[in-house]
Amino acid sequence: MEDYPKTLMELEKRFSTEKACQDYLFQLRWPLGFRCSPCGGDKAWSRSDGLLECGKCGFKVSAKAGTVFEGSRKPLVLWFRAIWWMTCQKNGASALGLQRILGLGSYQTAWIWLHKLRRAMVRPGQDRLTGSVQVDETFIGGVKPGKRGRGAAGKVLVLIIAQEKGKAVGRIRLRLIRDASAEILEAELLKTVEPGAKVKTDGWKGYSGLTALGYEHEVVRKTEDVGENLLPLCHRVASLIKRWLGGTHQGAVSHEHLACYLDEYTFRFNRRTSRSRGLLFYRLLQNAVGIEPTTYDGITLGVRGQKGKKHKM
Ligand SMILES: [Zn+2]
Repeated sequence: MEDYPKTLMELEKRFSTEKACQDYLFQLRWPLGFRCSPCGGDKAWSRSDGLLECGKCGFKVSAKAGTVFEGSRKPLVLWFRAIWWMTCQKNGASALGLQRILGLGSYQTAWIWLHKLRRAMVRPGQDRLTGSVQVDETFIGGVKPGKRGRGAAGKVLVLIIAQEKGKAVGRIRLRLIRDASAEILEAELLKTVEPGAKVKTDGWKGYSGLTALGYEHEVVRKTEDVGENLLPLCHRVASLIKRWLGGTHQGAVSHEHLACYLDEYTFRFNRRTSRSRGLLFYRLLQNAVGIEPTTYDGITLGVRGQKGKKHKM
């Protein structure tokens, strides 16, 4: 059963204590009931210090351990509000906005929180797209169109995979790629699209081996230019991403973090018709307990006004 708050009021009421948040995380981590990792025991009791203790071997586990919250001294009550707020922002969340809404002491903390949460926007073991998909690449950043198969100055290449849902876009996958060689394109497609699916591309030679990989490959356009003349659904997605990066993030996303932003965009896009914002909150928390924790050192600052390589886009 998917059990999550539907409104801000419900969130406030339900997660007003640290204990309530901890219990919720435990429940997400063991949806079928507690299972002790060292001994396999299935009985546990919650201690007054918030830890869960295995009734068989005495192993203690904290709600934050092994999640994106690991290492954070801030209360989960605050994290839950950050997640609610982040998932409620239809066009994405800014660090400054988060800092203000939560009253966080530093901009840096807000920035790191958002990054940690972005990492939780990709589901571990994400499923592959099926049906019919359009695949194309676009350059992000810079002004002049670039040459395919090679890097262009100040630009990064993004592979767009857009599922067809009638004439509309179904779900998407976005991948930052080094170049558009067959080797890279094939590897990314195998990770994101189920063999047997119909894959529509243009005539670029990097896609010529798709039939051999088990896809029903259809070349819908003979030309090979990249950057301007994308397949229609990919084109739509590409312009939305560029507008989003230029709007919400004011073009201040650095190359090194772009992959994370693409993940955030994918998460939001694929759930744009979700009936409840609460469901997004729930999905993000589910991922958050299922992923490897990131430490501060694992994240380098790279936004405007911060240390790191800056990139205009
Ligand atoms: Zn145990």
